[in-house]
Amino acid sequence: MNITKEYKYDVLVAGGGSAGVAAGIAAARRGHRVLLLEARESLGGYATNGYVHGIDGVISGIGAEIVEELKKTDDVVPKTRFGMNVVFDPEKGKLCMEAKLLKAGVRILYGVTVIDCEVQDGRIRKVIAFGKSGAFSVEAKVYIDATGDADLARAAKVPYETGAPEYAGLNMSSTQVFRLSHVNRKKYMEADAQWRLENPQEAAKSSYMAHMYREGVKAGLLPYFIFPTALFYPLPHTDDECADVTVNSSHSIYCRSDDTEDRTRQIIEQHQSMLCMERFFREMVPGFEDCYVANIAPMHGFRETRRIMGRYEMTDSDIVLGRKFDDAVCRFAGGLDVHHPTSREHGFIRHTHMTGDTGNAFVSEAGTPAQEVGIHNFTVPDGPEVRPVPYDWCEIPYRCLLPQDVEGLLVAGRCISASTAASSGTRTIGSCLTTGQAAGTAAALSIEEGVDPSCLDTAQLRRILIADGVSLEGKIEDVAEKSEDDELYVSFLDNVKIRKK
Ligand SMILES: Cc1cc2nc3c(=O)[nH]c(=O)nc-3n(C[C@H](O)[C@H](O)[C@H](O)COP(=O)(O)OP(=O)(O)OC[C@H]3O[C@@H](n4cnc5c(N)ncnc54)[C@H](O)[C@@H]3O)c2cc1C
Repeated sequence: MNITKEYKYDVLVAGGGSAGVAAGIAAARRGHRVLLLEARESLGGYATNGYVHGIDGVISGIGAEIVEELKKTDDVVPKTRFGMNVVFDPEKGKLCMEAKLLKAGVRILYGVTVIDCEVQDGRIRKVIAFGKSGAFSVEAKVYIDATGDADLARAAKVPYETGAPEYAGLNMSSTQVFRLSHVNRKKYMEADAQWRLENPQEAAKSSYMAHMYREGVKAGLLPYFIFPTALFYPLPHTDDECADVTVNSSHSIYCRSDDTEDRTRQIIEQHQSMLCMERFFREMVPGFEDCYVANIAPMHGFRETRRIMGRYEMTDSDIVLGRKFDDAVCRFAGGLDVHHPTSREHGFIRHTHMTGDTGNAFVSEAGTPAQEVGIHNFTVPDGPEVRPVPYDWCEIPYRCLLPQDVEGLLVAGRCISASTAASSGTRTIGSCLTTGQAAGTAAALSIEEGVDPSCLDTAQLRRILIADGVSLEGKIEDVAEKSEDDELYVSFLDNVKIRKK
């Protein structure tokens, strides 16, 4: 390969999504020379270019700084979900992230894809990237893979997983988010409330939007049932009676999201479904009569692709049992959020099944698991249905950021070491921002201490993260605004009420 240029930096960050941005800022703030390579021409990844602009997970540290910055210009819509979810303007999000990276002194190169690396004696020696001026190499003291897809780790031959073994390696369903303009949200909310009033029995187990999607299929406007709930995010600065919303509802199933051919199949399928949905909304859904597709998210929403196999793998039981770790670098308070790999009807998997000690987790009454066997269509679940306790939280250990076998490399964001179900906690934007900040800080510390990232004093790392505002101490309530939903524990958007053991 013809190498046109050779760069040398202290820290190389591959990918400028939520994780990469926070990693770059954290490392540069400690005085290191940081280069960030981003394949696209703006930052934020799914959080901006995927139109996934509602932050789940605990927001603290650099994540909280970004939110505070956006609040100053009213580019944030506060939400009540678990008191921790904020929706922001994706375009302003890109600009805010870029400004913060530049202020911290990070060199950004846009339109550059990391394609390969050289590994010697279990250590990355240089990374090869490709941009408009051709291929170039970057040598760094520490490398951070924040590509979301573990592209750099894969090139370095780090073992990885994709999909869930109980679903034959199929990934969670994927979604092409799009932006609808001219939506009368007020009229829609009124129609929703009226339907609930008139159909209390159906409303107790389903949603107005699910009802409308079924009507859409009957009317021949939709090719299939879309999803059990309405997944819309509002955009700031638009009026309730003439609003813009992003629609996060249509799902492609049976996905192999690290396969180029299948990714293209999913994209084309979602484009076709979006056109049907626009017509269905206009013709059938109150409040959407004048709507139109104003934008298609520049990134198709592949919820998961590769996850590295690290020195610790988070599991679904870590989430439901609220496990804590001595080397924790991030906290997650929320439920399981697995978008079903093979069913649009069931939508999400919100629980796991466990035998043995279920700690203080929520366990469903006998009988419920049998009724829900249908959602585990490749395996029969073992043990009762278990969900996490509201206001408890689990922690993500530093070891999830450390790949097996390869030194000098940290991984941050949605491709860290976790099972598909546990990635419910690790892939939220809040967690990606925080594992990014942790990776950037760890890279800096490892250079300062002259040790490999795997040999860091994690107590020292945690002290720095806490001093830099990361929520690792105290109760979660202390960092979250209380909302009226707290006591009820509304499980994300689908109003699944759970019972205590
Ligand atoms: C449809 C959908 C809905 C979701 N809903 C929510 C939600 O409501 N709330 C929530 O908190 N989370 C949600 N998530 C999850 C969350 O959005 C993502 O997991 C998170 O944003 C991932 O952040 P990241 O930085 O790890 O990766 P990404 O956002 O994927 O960023 C990776 C960046 O790296 C760049 N890149 C990739 N490969 C290379 C390469 N080889 N070289 C250089 N650059 C590269 C990409 O262009 C991108 O900018 C959703 C995800 C999807 C797909």
